Amino acid sequence: MRLAVAAFLPFESMEFSLSPELRDLQARTRTFIDEIVIPAEPRLPRDVSDWVDLRGELQDAAKQAGLFAPHIPQEYGGLGLNWRDCAVIFEEAGRSLLGPQALNCAAPDEGNMHMLEKIASPAQKEKYLRPLAQGKIRSCFSMTEPNGAGADPNLLKTRAEYRDGKWIINGRKWFISGAIGASYTICMARTQATDGRPQTTEKRSGATMFLVDADNPGFRIVRHVPTLDLGWPGGHAEVEFVNCEASDDAVLGAVGEGFEYAQVRLGPARLTHCMRWLGAARRANEYAVKYANARESFGKTLAEHQGVQFMLADSEIEMHAARLMIWHAAYLLDQGDKARHETSMAKVFVAETVNRVIDRAVQICGSHGIAEDWPLALLYREHRAFRIYDGPSEVHRMSVGRRVARRALAAK
Ligand SMILES: Cc1cc2nc3c(=O)[nH]c(=O)nc-3n(C[C@H](O)[C@H](O)[C@H](O)COP(=O)(O)OP(=O)(O)OC[C@H]3O[C@@H](n4cnc5c(N)ncnc54)[C@H](O)[C@@H]3O)c2cc1C
Repeated sequence: MRLAVAAFLPFESMEFSLSPELRDLQARTRTFIDEIVIPAEPRLPRDVSDWVDLRGELQDAAKQAGLFAPHIPQEYGGLGLNWRDCAVIFEEAGRSLLGPQALNCAAPDEGNMHMLEKIASPAQKEKYLRPLAQGKIRSCFSMTEPNGAGADPNLLKTRAEYRDGKWIINGRKWFISGAIGASYTICMARTQATDGRPQTTEKRSGATMFLVDADNPGFRIVRHVPTLDLGWPGGHAEVEFVNCEASDDAVLGAVGEGFEYAQVRLGPARLTHCMRWLGAARRANEYAVKYANARESFGKTLAEHQGVQFMLADSEIEMHAARLMIWHAAYLLDQGDKARHETSMAKVFVAETVNRVIDRAVQICGSHGIAEDWPLALLYREHRAFRIYDGPSEVHRMSVGRRVARRALAAK
């Protein structure tokens, strides 16, 4: 079925049906999550450094099932799906918080893989992308800073200066997901200062990305930051770069292009978060529907009370709308469009939808929603940060609103 979809302004033609191959992959992923991954949830590590065995075991199972690394090109051992197809598979994987780990499509590695594939040199791809794609190592992405880069990345304070034929990086970052146990980090540093080296562009940003190995003597994990969410493999860490030396080979892409590359990473990465989290909302809703049909109150089941029906309806409507927004933005990315407007709109809507759907599921399930026996309490804690990372909702609303206003002015 082909439908016309209103994109930013022009009308686009978008395919909604799933190919038989994708339907098969979707069904196999669903079965894998139900039969292999969900039964492993009681073993979910509570310590951020205690992930190696479970992650490795689930990834081996995913490889055997032919489901590993759906987003990665086949030459790096993945399935080579486009974004639109990834949307379907990531949603299935996201039904369990362990699913994306099993398929090696979890953040931050998944976003880093995409950026490396687009930007890294052939030698960097061999050293950093291939083992990451195979699940042999983990990585992290170092952008956010205490009192520096945050919702506004232009506040970036970390600096890299070019001295005596090498880069010297100094700065502190925090909330760096996966840092503990990662083999390397991609560090965003300002290189605009007069560093004796010509910039490739005149961009105001003047930031550059560096590949920094975890065993670099100038790189240090300062602490694990305890958070509302579990933190997952490697937690969210505060890290520092102190006279951290990096060679020219460690520059990812071109000097001065860091903010451009951040968009290469974050555009799809914020959408893939939406894909995975939609699966988590679906899972929470599955519990709500099952409980509402089984539990009686005041002479009928919960599902027969209009108040509960309205909650179930709102979740169904919002998840459907969320899925369509994700598919549309993914479709545009597949056409080579940066889809900044659409990924921003999707990020706001899906993050807030996930928030509401999980909250309703907790409410419908009563005390079961709060107990750790079911995954609802875990999902409730895990989802909250999604409205903050990869751009807080307010910042995406600001970007969308600005474009809307500019579009109106341009049309005059
Ligand atoms: C769980 C988690 C994982 C993360 N992982 C990583 C990671 O791996 N690597 C990394 O580099 N960073 C990571 N981050 C950091 C994340 O990207 C930042 O938290 C985010 O960019 C916001 O920055 P900040 O926390 O400094 O908030 P601030 O910049 O202090 O903003 C605080 C709040 O102010 C409001 N605000 C800001 N600007 C505006 C505006 N223009 N209009 C209206 N309101 C506004 C928003 O509500 C925002 O939440 C992670 C964060 C979390 C919570």
